[in-house]
Amino acid sequence: MNTNGKPVLEIKDVSKIYRAKAGFFAGSGKDVVALDRISLEINKGEIFGLVGESGSGKTTAGRLIVSLEETDFGEILLDGKSVTGLKGKRLKKFRSKAQMIFQDPYQSLNPQRSILDTVAEPLIIHRLGHANSRKDRVREALRSVGLSPPDDFLYRYPHRLSGGQRQRVAIARAMVLDPEFVIADEPTSMLDASISAQIFNILLKMRDELGVTQLFITHSLAAARYLCDRIAVLYHGRLMELGPSDQVIQNPIHPYTKALIDALPKFGHSGERKRYGTLLTRERENTHEDLGCNFFPRCSLAQEQRCNLEKPILEDMGNQHHVACFLSQS
Ligand code: ADP
Ligand code: MG
Repeated sequence: MNTNGKPVLEIKDVSKIYRAKAGFFAGSGKDVVALDRISLEINKGEIFGLVGESGSGKTTAGRLIVSLEETDFGEILLDGKSVTGLKGKRLKKFRSKAQMIFQDPYQSLNPQRSILDTVAEPLIIHRLGHANSRKDRVREALRSVGLSPPDDFLYRYPHRLSGGQRQRVAIARAMVLDPEFVIADEPTSMLDASISAQIFNILLKMRDELGVTQLFITHSLAAARYLCDRIAVLYHGRLMELGPSDQVIQNPIHPYTKALIDALPKFGHSGERKRYGTLLTRERENTHEDLGCNFFPRCSLAQEQRCNLEKPILEDMGNQHHVACFLSQS
């Protein structure tokens, strides 16, 4: 761990609501609260894991941070400066500092562009260097993600690469501008386990050798444990638990985190692992969705009187370990 405690990114009380569309073709007609008053800080040089099941709001958080989407409430700061509502030149400058790597390397790369053009594009957009120096920079970026020798890849097209190679190209493209901050949104969910491990090692190298601060988004607590200095667990748009990875994994407090840990395959071959037996209940009915804890409908330990009526907020339990659960706070 090489965090020095200085926040690069601050998310302050951020909410995002997708409004239901009106009209004949409208879907269920309900607003979706994708993120509900999220606050967290990511320190310089750390990999911070945002863990949650599908639909919990992880990608939304990433898109808000890189300004692909606007917050409805709250504020996001990079290096102490607000990134909310940036336009024109200032937005462009910010984009060079914060990059996002997307889940699907088959969709995120333009099939018409060679690898050279793909990786050089951010340099061209930001008018950096000239053709030759750009090519050198692309070579360097390809080498840093293990696509070596780089000249074997420059004039290839994405369809001639494997999924793992494509994701390496996407990482090279994100790295070519020397960003301060990178968001990797489930970068290996389309890849085999052995290829995933190689991609994880590239992310670790980016942290350890280049000091790149990262938000690693995943549905897998096991992956977060392997990669991340700290972890936050998200459930239906609310933070449930946040703390140093070892703390959260070895000493989970929230019933949802305990259930996630129970669901993990056995670590290593030690055999013994604490089981929490926190079963998720079938979805309860008669819940006060807007009032109570977001996890209430599935929590086997919930107390009707409290958990269904009020939302717990993250509280510091010591050791930088924060939990939003009345059962542990009392
Ligand atoms: P995750 O990445 O954790 O799977 P998302 O951030 O993609 O979750 O989605 C969070 C919630 O917001 C989901 O309920 C999803 O259906 C909804 N959502 C995401 N994007 C949109 C959108 N553009 N319009 C409407 N609803 C959306
Ligand atoms: Mg997602």
